[in-house]
Amino acid sequence: MPIESPYPMISIEDALAIIQNAIQPLPSINIPFQTAPGYVLAEDVFANEPMPPFPASSVDGYAVVAADGPGKRRIVGDQAAGYMAGIEIEPGTSARVTTGAPVPPGADAVVMVEEAEVIGDHVEILARNIQPGTNIRPIGQDIEQNQRVLAVGTVLGPPELGLLGTVGRSNVTVYRRPKVAVMSTGDEIVEPHEQPAPGQIRDANRFTLIGAVRQAGGEPLDLGIVRDKQGSLQATIERGLTEADVLLTSGGVSMGQLDLVKPYLASRGTLHFGRVNTKPGKPVTFAVVDGVPCFAMPGFPVSALVSFEVFVRPALLKMAGHTNIYRPREKAVLAHRFSHTAARTEFQRVVLTRRADGTLVASTTGFQGSGRLLSMVGANGLVILPHGQDNYEAGAVVDALILDRVEMEDGVDKPHVSSL
Ligand code: AMP
Ligand code: MG
Repeated sequence: MPIESPYPMISIEDALAIIQNAIQPLPSINIPFQTAPGYVLAEDVFANEPMPPFPASSVDGYAVVAADGPGKRRIVGDQAAGYMAGIEIEPGTSARVTTGAPVPPGADAVVMVEEAEVIGDHVEILARNIQPGTNIRPIGQDIEQNQRVLAVGTVLGPPELGLLGTVGRSNVTVYRRPKVAVMSTGDEIVEPHEQPAPGQIRDANRFTLIGAVRQAGGEPLDLGIVRDKQGSLQATIERGLTEADVLLTSGGVSMGQLDLVKPYLASRGTLHFGRVNTKPGKPVTFAVVDGVPCFAMPGFPVSALVSFEVFVRPALLKMAGHTNIYRPREKAVLAHRFSHTAARTEFQRVVLTRRADGTLVASTTGFQGSGRLLSMVGANGLVILPHGQDNYEAGAVVDALILDRVEMEDGVDKPHVSSL
């Protein structure tokens, strides 16, 4: 009699739903705004003052009374950016102003230097069409007083950081990022600097997973390599549970006698699932222990990374406050036949390119063995080959997850503006 796994096989959709139900955004923290790139806002941000806070010149030029029209004006002073010069403009007069300078009281337009000519202490206004407001940015043009400038859930990138500076927020409340404890398990696994003895191999998964955690905005905590021994495995898992928000293990979740991760997680908390109808990654496991989500990845390096991509990354993003947690998914045309077995839904690693007509095309990265990390190198997508059908023929249309930038099929990296 073959040994049956005690864990029921569930669908990928069910697994994702279970994970999403079990995890919540982490509590918020208040941090200096300069350290906040990539964090997600946990508060609405309002502007206390309007922007610009005073009528500001948008050019270097001459502040005038619009109704005076073209002609000669007496220059009564200078108003550069950064202070109030105390000048008043009356009909027939003008003041030199710089970009960003407060427009002196009395003036209602600014004429660009290019449209004026200075003769001694006078300026000759050449501009024909001066209207009240010309070249003046009124108070509140960019931001109104008390306007909400950023909403909860916004990911802080360059414009958001600039706005925080503008509204004077030196600290900002954001969702905490998950600290993720990462460990490799296996009696055969040694460190990269070591020479493997016969029967041993160097660790790949810790580095793959630490890199993936970082890319997903998490903070990795490296717990090293753990042997397939009850005691050390338990001690390291316990350390991860105490010190991190998420536990991420690889190896030790198959059907071997030394596969101790699942039983231990089950004994310590709630094991939500231990088998998913997915390839690679069938034995991927999810448990919650003492409130800490635990993901046990299979040992094969591709299985570990694809399982991370499909199951763990969305969870980390949700914990960090993101609402957009799944990769973009689009239809892709297979460039050639993809071999596939009907039993499981498979994520195959592909290079996606885009034809001029917009069609997304998928080509394999080669042999798709679960140990062959090279099948992930250069892959910018995963095609999803659903179960229930064997080989997929060239031209078949399937869903693809887009992991990275998609190039045009002709290989030309085009500038954004066609005249360049
Ligand atoms: P396991 O899930 O522990 O049964 O491991 C499945 C396969 O993945 C075995 O061939 C292991 O040697 C390999 N493997 C497990 N952990 C790692 C690791 N950290 N780095 C590279 N290969 C691994
Ligand atoms: Mg193992």
